[in-house]
Amino acid sequence: MIRCSLHNHTRFVDGANTPKEMADAAYEAGLSVFGISEHSVFPYEPESGVKEEEIPRYIEEMEACRKTYHGRMEVLCGLEQDFYSPVPDHAYDYVIGSVHYVDHEGILYSVDSDARSVQEQIRNVYHCDGLVYAEEYFATVAQVADRTDCDIIGHFDLCTKFNENNRLYDMTCRRYRQAAMQALESLLPKEIPFEINSGAIARGYRSQPYPAAWILKELHAHGARIIITSDAHQKENICFGFELAEELALSCGFRTVTVLENGIWQERPIGEE
Ligand SMILES: [Zn+2]
Ligand SMILES: [Zn+2]
Repeated sequence: MIRCSLHNHTRFVDGANTPKEMADAAYEAGLSVFGISEHSVFPYEPESGVKEEEIPRYIEEMEACRKTYHGRMEVLCGLEQDFYSPVPDHAYDYVIGSVHYVDHEGILYSVDSDARSVQEQIRNVYHCDGLVYAEEYFATVAQVADRTDCDIIGHFDLCTKFNENNRLYDMTCRRYRQAAMQALESLLPKEIPFEINSGAIARGYRSQPYPAAWILKELHAHGARIIITSDAHQKENICFGFELAEELALSCGFRTVTVLENGIWQERPIGEE
């Protein structure tokens, strides 16, 4: 069983629980390493992320959790750094680099909000060509490591969040695959682990984790590392989908996953008793 969970959110932004409630649940779930990766400050329209003035309190509450669980469970204070957020002032224990918006002609559109907005965006901004939307998204993802200096690549194909059954565009076509592959190829040399993220399943948007199996197979074929995360927004979901993600990883050829233990990024075997 994976005992390290690093992609989690709290009430500081859009989560349901406090850091303490999350840490208590993580300990009860038997984790040995637990981190919160709160959303970075996002000062543009539509405003999201942690409020600048709340950051000291976020760090303080995480520090208190760290003390509470000292010697029993490692508690880490991370950040999910959005591509468009300003560079953070604080040295977090780790950073997840994520793209939640695409910039189209100077306007930021959310990739993450809801199916209807994305649908409208594709109709109005991309003249009904959803593949342009996906291409712009992946062109941004291609630069996420350089831009955020991250330790983990967050939900690589988040643009598929509302696209189960190819509702918005065809994910099997050449153009889509090419856009995803180009992003993948520019990120591979960075040697940063990619997430298998089950968050959208817990929240009812998808039936499978990010990224798609074919992308995971490409990652494996290219020697990339993966890390299993749940993107939990409530304490019940801290290990949500870990087994499914592990099975998926195994079926795509992976035999290890990345964890952060004692401050060291390392590989742990999966699929063993
Ligand atoms: Zn995210
Ligand atoms: Zn997240």
